[in-house]
Amino acid sequence: MTAPIDTEALVIGAGPVGLFQVFQLGLQGIHCHVVDALPHVGGQCAELYAGKPIYDIPGIPFCTGRELVERLQQQIAPFKPTLHLGQQVDSIERLPDQRLKVSTGSGCTFHTNTLFIAAGVGAFVPRRMLLDGLSAFEGSQVFAEHPAPERWASQHLVVAGEGDAALQTCLSAIEGPQAAASVTLLHRRDQFSAAPDLIAQMRQACAEGRMRFVAGQPTGLRTANGHLQALELLNPQGDTEWLSLDVLQTCLGLSPKLGPVAQWGLAMERKQLVVNTENFGTSETGIFAVGDINTYPGKKKLILCGFHEATLAAFGAVALLRPAEKTLLQYTTTSTLLHQRLGIA
Ligand SMILES: Cc1cc2nc3c(=O)[nH]c(=O)nc-3n(C[C@H](O)[C@H](O)[C@H](O)COP(=O)(O)OP(=O)(O)OC[C@H]3O[C@@H](n4cnc5c(N)ncnc54)[C@H](O)[C@@H]3O)c2cc1C
Repeated sequence: MTAPIDTEALVIGAGPVGLFQVFQLGLQGIHCHVVDALPHVGGQCAELYAGKPIYDIPGIPFCTGRELVERLQQQIAPFKPTLHLGQQVDSIERLPDQRLKVSTGSGCTFHTNTLFIAAGVGAFVPRRMLLDGLSAFEGSQVFAEHPAPERWASQHLVVAGEGDAALQTCLSAIEGPQAAASVTLLHRRDQFSAAPDLIAQMRQACAEGRMRFVAGQPTGLRTANGHLQALELLNPQGDTEWLSLDVLQTCLGLSPKLGPVAQWGLAMERKQLVVNTENFGTSETGIFAVGDINTYPGKKKLILCGFHEATLAAFGAVALLRPAEKTLLQYTTTSTLLHQRLGIA
């Protein structure tokens, strides 16, 4: 547990709307911290359709999810937000001085005057392999979080999955100073959704005996002295077999979990935070909700709509943070103040 970070504004979620929130807060002269459960920014754009095209961002006739995220990062760079990635916000409570205490599962705490929930469809968390007793080995022999070679150096590694991440993990574990003693790819059938070149590399490595592929559905475990020794598999022929291992890395994709957002005591409708359309404030003063996480009459889950919401939420925040100041509308084209804030004066 580290000392709390004091800030005027905290954004939960570094999806496209959370990133644009940083920009709009920056224009208002408000520095912010940003927390995201993923180890990278971009939310759905980066996680679900990085390479696919988007055609409805104003002024950008065409870009991919990845390109949009890159452009947003460029746009917010002058405001130097502090990013806290790979951390899920678990709890929010009101402090006696009316600020908000926001805590992450990794022990990071913020004391913030305003909070912007841009949590989209929830925190993206790795899907776990559902097998009785397996969770007891999580963190020691079983890992669902992002693969790291130090976990399997010189160990017998089983990688469960069939997408890019699973195949990439196998290929990187068969070579280098932290290579595994053996690498086995496990999937219920001999079909993969990974990129064709990764599939070709995996098949080549199997043909050369540098790794192997086993088809089967995990059905049980064998343990001894508190150690996971093997997975029981039902193979495609309907037979049971055992797969020995030291380390199991699962790469079963990510799924969004609304989880903690629903427990923060904010007014909700159909799993979304109810907001007003004047400044996208929630039922709690100082807490705004923007992007896919919010709901109001006519809500559309579009990036463009989230950008509008973030703009008005930033005006709402400045009215709360600097009540004595007039919140004047200024144009980025002509305002010297905004040019200074953008670092282009
Ligand atoms: C396949 C597909 C195609 C799409 N195409 C288009 C399109 O062409 N045009 C368009 O306008 N929209 C499109 N959309 C919708 C668009 O992606 C969403 O509207 C947009 O991503 C919403 O942005 P957001 O920032 O609100 O949320 P998200 O992008 O979902 O980001 C939310 C972030 O919050 C994080 N988070 C959530 N809870 C927590 C927590 N407790 N702690 C820490 N972090 C947390 C998540 O990890 C995530 O990174 C598409 C969606 C999909 C799935």
